[in-house]
Amino acid sequence: MDFRLLVDLCESLEKITRRNLMVEVVAEFLKGLSEDEVEPAISMILGRAFPKYDQRTLDVSWTTLNNVIRHLTRAEWRSFHAVFRETGDVGETAQTLFKNSVAHRQSALLERPLTILEVRRIFEHIAESKGQGSRERKERLIESLLSRATPLEVKYLVKILIGEMRTGFQEGLMEAAVSEAFSISLKDVQRASMLTGDIAEVAYLCKKHGGVGILNLGFKIFRPIKPMLAQMAKGFEEVFKEHGGKTALEYKLDGARIQIHMSRGDVRIFSRRLTDVTKSLPEVASLVRNEIRAREAILEGEVIAVSGDGKPMPFQHLMRRFKRVYEIDKIAKSVPVKLYLFDALYIDGESLINLPYDERRRKLREIVGDIPLTEQIVTSDLSEAKSFLKRAVDEGHEGLMAKRPSSPYFPGARGKHWFKIKDVLPPLDLVIVAAEYGYGRRHNWLSDYYLAAKGSKGFTIVGKTFKGLTDDEIADLTKRLKEIAVGEEGNRVIVLPKIVVEVAYNEIQESPKYESGMALRFARITRIRDDKMPDEADTIETVRTIYEGQFRRKARVSV
Ligand code: AMP
Repeated sequence: MDFRLLVDLCESLEKITRRNLMVEVVAEFLKGLSEDEVEPAISMILGRAFPKYDQRTLDVSWTTLNNVIRHLTRAEWRSFHAVFRETGDVGETAQTLFKNSVAHRQSALLERPLTILEVRRIFEHIAESKGQGSRERKERLIESLLSRATPLEVKYLVKILIGEMRTGFQEGLMEAAVSEAFSISLKDVQRASMLTGDIAEVAYLCKKHGGVGILNLGFKIFRPIKPMLAQMAKGFEEVFKEHGGKTALEYKLDGARIQIHMSRGDVRIFSRRLTDVTKSLPEVASLVRNEIRAREAILEGEVIAVSGDGKPMPFQHLMRRFKRVYEIDKIAKSVPVKLYLFDALYIDGESLINLPYDERRRKLREIVGDIPLTEQIVTSDLSEAKSFLKRAVDEGHEGLMAKRPSSPYFPGARGKHWFKIKDVLPPLDLVIVAAEYGYGRRHNWLSDYYLAAKGSKGFTIVGKTFKGLTDDEIADLTKRLKEIAVGEEGNRVIVLPKIVVEVAYNEIQESPKYESGMALRFARITRIRDDKMPDEADTIETVRTIYEGQFRRKARVSV
């Protein structure tokens, strides 16, 4: 199938707001795909070059892509800015530049239309370009791809290359479309999607084998599963109400979540972004190999950095472990980590995800050897819960997780089965969408940041801050932001929404300043969250929930 048809589909999705209609048009489109096209097409519609579990990445920097666009269209950086100011979207900006380029129009006329499979093959070549000279090779490949594309195709190729689709058509809707296209119940499709971790692969199996293709799916060891997520609790009252009067509280450790897969002594560790981080955590891998009393297992836990006396160290130290690609042994000595396990999804051929939390925890305890579990109590008593929270915070942890004792494990789902509880207004994970140069000593640095929450189509600004980071961090961030800059307005640099930061604040105010209608008061960045993807940033609904929760709290104080 021609890539043009996929692009036409995305273009129409941008204009549709009704979800049912979106699902219908995508389902119709899926029916027309051949077996080989199903997975690549679905990945691309979702803005990905490869399926989610795939460890291949394009690794194309914005600088590289920007060079290619300007080279092919002969556009100046200034005219890129001017167009970007009007469109506000990098894909559309590229489209306009290509439309206006005489040189491109002439050369593209002579080309054969791109097909979906050709686009995928070129993505594969881009991903395979590694090592010395890879940047030039990638540039040449992207150049040959874009020079064959129509301006509208360029718009979507650029969106996929930078990983920002913004059509509002997300994975949940794709599950509905797959269910409709292949006449398989939504429940079965969702279950399969959760087990394989990728809706594109599920669709391929449906196309190839029909409904039976996904009925007997099980876990695949070494294929990471989407982690179950937690929702922010307004307070213990809400937790007890939702959990039927009794809840399991665990320390919420301030570290990095890992998913451990083990089969006959072979261990692989995945981050919460589902990338393989085994090499960064050699001592954790060998601990698991030595301690776990099972042939095969998929387990979850948190690693935290600890100082010599076993106390938790700030999160930033831990991130150094993941960033380091050489001399791992050296950093393993200076930043020791400790593993705490908290869940078991699979043990020796048996999937545990439909078992209740307390039973999974019991099975986990049976096989962990000397590896500690997260500190836990099961309680129905408010004052006991409060003193457990105080203990956690006094010991240097972030707060608590509250888990419904009877809850199965829901991969990839955020809901009220798991709550996170903190004793202050919870920090938000927000994305930097623009930055301004500072004053005085900071005039060369992008040190004032616009912070945005996730909306249904793109990001929306909820605050701005120049507080919280060290000079070194600001210098480093300036470099990174310049690499993803897409526009300039006076002192302000607009950037691709790539960098997630954790932000603390004193209050959320109503404010006409931003489109969201809300603004964080006294916002300050507490850490750079390179372990989170922009997609995992807090949503505008979360910000609103906290905003509304403040009033409840205030009202309570005043009675
Ligand atoms: P957040 O990243 O703020 O959405 O909070 C959820 C995260 O808390 C998980 O992804 C884990 O990395 C982390 N976490 C820390 N302790 C626990 C625990 N005991 N159970 C589950 N998650 C935990």
